[in-house]
Amino acid sequence: MSLRRALAVRGLVLALSATLLSACAHAPLRSPLAAWSPSPNHDARQAQLIVLHHTQMDSFDEALATLKSANDHGRVSAHYLIAEDGRIVQLVDERARAWHAGAGRWGVLSDLNDASIGIELDNDGSEPFAEAQIDALIRLLDDLCTRLALPRTAVIAHADLAPTRKADPSAQFPWARLAAAGFGEWPRADAPLAPEGFDPVLALALLGYDTSNLPAALAAFRRRFRGMETAPTPVGSDKGAVTVAFDDEDRRLLFDLQQQRLGR
Ligand SMILES: [Zn+2]
Repeated sequence: MSLRRALAVRGLVLALSATLLSACAHAPLRSPLAAWSPSPNHDARQAQLIVLHHTQMDSFDEALATLKSANDHGRVSAHYLIAEDGRIVQLVDERARAWHAGAGRWGVLSDLNDASIGIELDNDGSEPFAEAQIDALIRLLDDLCTRLALPRTAVIAHADLAPTRKADPSAQFPWARLAAAGFGEWPRADAPLAPEGFDPVLALALLGYDTSNLPAALAAFRRRFRGMETAPTPVGSDKGAVTVAFDDEDRRLLFDLQQQRLGR
C-alpha cells in the first residue's frame, strides 16, 4: 500500500471512530467489517433482576475506589453505589456486565453478573441502613424497573444467590420497607399456617434458592424474610444431604411466598 493510501485509510478509520463515539446510545453496536442488513428476529438482551449488596467498608470513598479497582479476590465493580446521605453514583453502563455477583445461582440463572444490575449500599455490615440511603434506593429501583421494564418483585440479596459465600445485605436491611414501596417479594401479614404435606424445601427452590446446601439456603431465607442472622442448626442427613428443621414461621412464610409465585 502506498504511503498516501495508508494515510487516507487511517484518516477514514479515525473519522469512522469519531462517528461511532458520537453515535446515540441506541445505535446498534456494529462491526466495521460487516454490511448492516438488520433482521427483526431478535430479543432485547437485558438485566432480569437487581441484586443488592452492602459494601462492608468503612467509607463511601473506600468503596468507590475499590469498585474501580479490586478487592482481595480480584477486580470488582457494580452499576451503582449509594452513599449514606442518599447520593447515587453510577459506575457501569446498564447494558454492560458489572462484576459484583460472583459464583452463584438463582432459579435457572447461573451467571448472575450476566443477568443483573448490581447496587452497592455504603454500609459496614453491622450498622443500620440510613434513612436517606433507603429513600434513594427506592427512587433508583423505581427508575430502573420503569426504564428497563423489570418486574418490581425481581430484587434480591447477594446472599440469596450465593448463600454459602455471602451474607449481604445484613439482617438490618429493611426489606419490609422496600416491600411497602412495591419492591421485592414479601409474605402477606395475614398468611395462614402451612398445610400438612407442604414441602418447604421445594418452596425454597421455587423461590430461586440453591438448596444443595440446605442450612446455608435457610440461613439466607431467614436473614432476608425474618431479619435473623443466626444460622439454622443442621439436624441430620437424608441420602447424604444435610437437613435442617424448618419451624412453623419458616413454613408459614414459605407457603405464602410459594402461593404468591403461583398467583394464588
Ligand atoms: Zn455483595
